[in-house]
Amino acid sequence: MIIVLHNTVEDADKQHIKEYLESRGLKVREIVGDKETVLGAVGPVSLDIRQVELLPGVAQVIPISKPYKLASRELKKEDTVFDVGPVTIGGNRVCVIAGPCAVESREQIIEAALAVKKAGAVILRGGAFKPRTSPYAFQGLGEEGCKYLKEAGELTGMPVVTEIVSPSDADMMKEYVDMFQIGARNMQNFELLKKVGSLGMPVLLKRGLSATIQEWLMAAEYLMSSGTDKVILCERGIRTFETMTRNTLDLSAVPVVQKLSHLPVIVDPSHGTGLRNKVLPMALAGVAAGANGLTIEVHPDPENASSDGPQSLYPEQFEKLMCDLETLSPVVGKEISRLPDKRHLALAEEVKTHSAAKGKETVPKAAFQGIHGAYSELAAKTYFSGSEVEAVAVPHFSDIFRNVLSGDADWGIVPLENSVAGSILENYDLLNRYVDLGIVGEIKVRIRHNLMAVPGTKLENIKKVYSHPQALSQCSDYLEKEGMESVSFFDTAGAASHVAEAADTTIAAVAGADAAGYYGLEILAEGIETNPHNYTRFAVIARKDMISPDKSVDKASLVFSVADEAGSLSSCLSVFSEYGLNMKKLESRPIHGKPWSYMFYIDLDIPEDRSVFDQAVEKIKTLTEDFRILGLYHS
Ligand code: PEP
Ligand code: MN
Repeated sequence: MIIVLHNTVEDADKQHIKEYLESRGLKVREIVGDKETVLGAVGPVSLDIRQVELLPGVAQVIPISKPYKLASRELKKEDTVFDVGPVTIGGNRVCVIAGPCAVESREQIIEAALAVKKAGAVILRGGAFKPRTSPYAFQGLGEEGCKYLKEAGELTGMPVVTEIVSPSDADMMKEYVDMFQIGARNMQNFELLKKVGSLGMPVLLKRGLSATIQEWLMAAEYLMSSGTDKVILCERGIRTFETMTRNTLDLSAVPVVQKLSHLPVIVDPSHGTGLRNKVLPMALAGVAAGANGLTIEVHPDPENASSDGPQSLYPEQFEKLMCDLETLSPVVGKEISRLPDKRHLALAEEVKTHSAAKGKETVPKAAFQGIHGAYSELAAKTYFSGSEVEAVAVPHFSDIFRNVLSGDADWGIVPLENSVAGSILENYDLLNRYVDLGIVGEIKVRIRHNLMAVPGTKLENIKKVYSHPQALSQCSDYLEKEGMESVSFFDTAGAASHVAEAADTTIAAVAGADAAGYYGLEILAEGIETNPHNYTRFAVIARKDMISPDKSVDKASLVFSVADEAGSLSSCLSVFSEYGLNMKKLESRPIHGKPWSYMFYIDLDIPEDRSVFDQAVEKIKTLTEDFRILGLYHS
């Protein structure tokens, strides 16, 4: 059963509820969500739910109707997102696991690791124990293979996953691996599931050769009820009458499972097809079907692989696959997972500095303009994901700057340009005005508009649609086709909140998916913008005295004015070409109080050799007036 707790539940009451359930033979899991905390109680005994409803702190008790409970969406509505080492799995990320079928030697796995890492994989795979159909086939290097895999992972900064075939290997293997794989042949090896689950580590659970989706979810239930909540489901093809491919990759399982379970689902097109030339199209199809990731067999020399050579990609084929995924992912509202780069490491340091300056009790804050559910809040959450930073809403852009200057906020998230609508000029002026603030980072967010309304609203009954005029115009094809009238509102999240308050089933709002969650609206149509290549770039600003110098930055934002004479701007720009600096953007703004004079804002790539940039800056300073570096940061 699911026990929904009151928002205001006391710790002592919560503890009492848990003890009440556990003393009656139930296993209890606490799930803390954004809006509510629930307890999942599972076990062989069933209780009269009315008894539980009467306990102090309980808001509601809901029986679970599915045979799998901890894995079920009935228990947990939000997608499960967890980390495997530095890699976050689930939600809107596409995580790519790659490597050879088997670890064959130290050199082979290191070569494979370097190749897949270079192309963009984030987790390294490689079997050390190979469950082969023939007892005479290569069985894997065992513990030695685990050692080489770990070494290759450490060398490349990738966490590693490998298959476990026997419960007796678990304690040895946990020293080497970041995630266990349960192979298709062992999906219903319940003793193995119980042992691996009890370690509490991430597990990649392959679907059995002939397993139904329900049997697969029951296997996940074994893992979860034994002690882990970090399970990835992997569709790897099932046995059918078809013989043209090694297995039949059941891609419809992806959306089916995502409806039934909150667990991340990935696709294995290598075992799913058994044929190298079918891997790329089926990998793309897997992501298009909504998968949270892929596992791909890649071998430096597939012709001579000890196992699964015919389905292993050459490293060049894998590179092509990663490029195609890069293009496809945003179209389906996803982002390719990356290993933390210099920017993330620098950011973690920055957050630590701000937390220390504030004292332990207060969480550092990032101010954004708008109300909760706005795209700016999504930008703040994405930029600071993984760090404890609170996003605070302020009414105007200028409030962001004021709050950061006064120290009420540690950072500000400022939209600078949209790839469809262009620059947000007010913010360029504010950047120039607040000389004690600087840019410390940037984040690009895909703008994906959704049509949302109060639950129960029928699409065909919607007459009016509220949103920011820009969002409405970006969705005009859809709205016209559906015969809906556009009504301008001051912002997208504000429109969502208005529609929720009005509780009228003939109106809807266009806003980001988070706004639907905040205001209890239902999404009736996703991604309704005409052009899916719609991104907004935000600058992250902080007080200059809080910015720690970082030599590994790769982007600079500058602002200056030039004398009112022939060739003055072009002589500055030629300094950039003279030093081989790549200019990313040029924007000009009128200088207030000085009619027909302009400030020029320039973004540049900083090359690996930082001294080139420093020399160019010295030269530019001599050619300009009011020269200022707005920020040096990681792009
Ligand atoms: C593997 O990943 O190498 C493997 C043996 O997979 P499966 O269990 O899906 O056959
Ligand atoms: Mn294999």
